This record gives sequence, structure tokens and C-alpha cells, in this order.
Amino acid sequence: LLNGKTALVTGSTSGIGLACAQALAAEGANVVVNGFGDEAAIEEIRTGLAEASGGQALYSNADLTDPAAIERMIDQAAEAFGAIDILINNAGMQHVAPIDQFPPDQWDLIIALNLSAVFHTTRLALPAMKAKGWGRIINTASAHSLVASPNKAPYVATKHGIAGLTKAVALETATSGVTVNCISPGYVWTPLVENQIPDTMKARGLTREQVMNDVLLAAQPTKKFVTVDEVAALALFLCRDEAASITGANLSMDGGWTAA
Ligand code: NAD
Repeated sequence: LLNGKTALVTGSTSGIGLACAQALAAEGANVVVNGFGDEAAIEEIRTGLAEASGGQALYSNADLTDPAAIERMIDQAAEAFGAIDILINNAGMQHVAPIDQFPPDQWDLIIALNLSAVFHTTRLALPAMKAKGWGRIINTASAHSLVASPNKAPYVATKHGIAGLTKAVALETATSGVTVNCISPGYVWTPLVENQIPDTMKARGLTREQVMNDVLLAAQPTKKFVTVDEVAALALFLCRDEAASITGANLSMDGGWTAA
């Protein structure tokens, strides 16, 4: 399906991004992996992706809160593969605190990573997609692009922002062969979710089980976490030619959360 194509997946050393990178590599795409983590573990991911694709995989350690590092990552990808055909803007972070106790430096970081980085990768990768007349930009938003939860103000603000940015860029690229969409998962079982359990326990005075069942899955009518493979399968579908008319969409995969 994706032989000869190149995908950049931000935040692909873990969770949803890793599953997307693996799904794209399995269809033959060259992959640029990005994110943090243990050096040996990342090298294992990179070689696994190259093997699965029969093509190549490159690692960029770019810190996406730094626009100059983003520019270097896009240049590195262009040098290695010519251009990026598929851009999955997935890296994201969370911090849980009431707004009047929210550390301003955390606010700035979350805006930089969850929203501004998507502006930078998009503006830098788009010209080559337009020149080729084919491209896919897939942004990982969240159910929090549609609804809010307490104690997550910057996260909710950036995810609503991603939904708006997705629509705006989709309109600008509508006749160019490039589609731009976002996927809005509910709670997916990844390190990002696991790591916010202690803070939520503290903020609300609950046990781990209460946070999982009464806070996280309370909003999700299916009472099940979404899996990273389900999200990756939707991202892969958006890369197909049959998905050419899906653009500017915010695709929910939230176990019914935002239907309620
Ligand atoms: P994760 O913590 O498992 O992975 C996050 C990835 O981003 C990692 O590869 C990490 O190294 C990378 N990253 C973090 N800071 C970075 C930085 N400054 N520069 C570059 N890379 C950085 O998280 P996940 O749950 O897989 O989340 C991925 C995306 O999905 C995020 O945008 C998140 O908001 C969104 N999302 C997650 C859920 C969920 O329930 N897990 C639900 C909805 C949306």
C-alpha cells in the first residue's frame, strides 16, 4: 500500500505514535521515528521498523518544543528520503492541575508541544506534498478536542486548537491532493494515561481503581480503553486512496464518550 512513501510520525517511541509507525512500516513506508526514551530501546524500534517495511527507518531526537529542532528534523527527513508524504502529528503531553495552581512553565510547554509543533511540521512538510500532488496529514487530537474535563486546561485548549487547525489547513489544501484530518481518541491505554493516574489520585483524593473506573472510564460508555492498534488502523485507512474525500474531519474513536 505505501511502498516508496515516507512517513514522519512525531512521538513515535511510545504509545499511539509507535503503533502508527509500525502499521505504516508494515505497509512498506519508510518511517522517521521521533520522540524520547532509552537509546537502545529506540534503536531496536528503528531497526524493527526498517525490517518490517523492507525500506528504511530514521530516528530524530528533535525536541518538538523547539522550532529550530523541528526544522532540522524536516531537513534530515528530506535529505534521507526526498520528502515526507505522510505526516502524523502525534507527540503530546499532559499535566493535571487546577487552573489557578497550573505552573505557567507547564502551560508554555504543553502549548509548544501539543499545538505550535503541529504548525511548524505542517508548514515545513506541506510544500513537498503539494508539489507531488499527494499527501496525508493526520493529527492526533483527543475527545478533549470536543469536550472538556477539569484540571486539564492547556491540554483541552490545545486539542480544541488542533481541531481548528486541521479544518483550516484542510480548506487551504482541498484541491491539492493532500488531506488533513484529526483522530480524536477517548482514553487509550498508554504511558500518557498511566502516568496521570497519580496526579489525579492526589487532585481528587481517590484510589488508583477509583481513578481508572470512576474518572477515566466514567466518560467512556463502552467501559473499555481504546487500543493503540485501533487508532493506528484508522490512521492507515486515512492513507488509502479510498480516503481521498475525507478531509477536514475530526474522527472520534472514543467508545461513545462524545455521543453522551
Ligand atoms: P505517550 O506518552 O505514550 O507518547 C508520547 C510520545 O511523545 C513519546 O514518544 C514521547 O517521547 C514523545 N514526546 C514527548 N515530549 C516530546 C517532545 N518535547 N518532543 C518530541 N517528542 C516528545 O502518549 P500517547 O498516549 O501515545 O499519546 C500520543 C498522542 O495521543 C498525544 O498527542 C495525546 O495527547 C494523544 N491522546 C492520547 C490519549 C490517551 O488516552 N492515551 C487519548 C487521546 C489523545
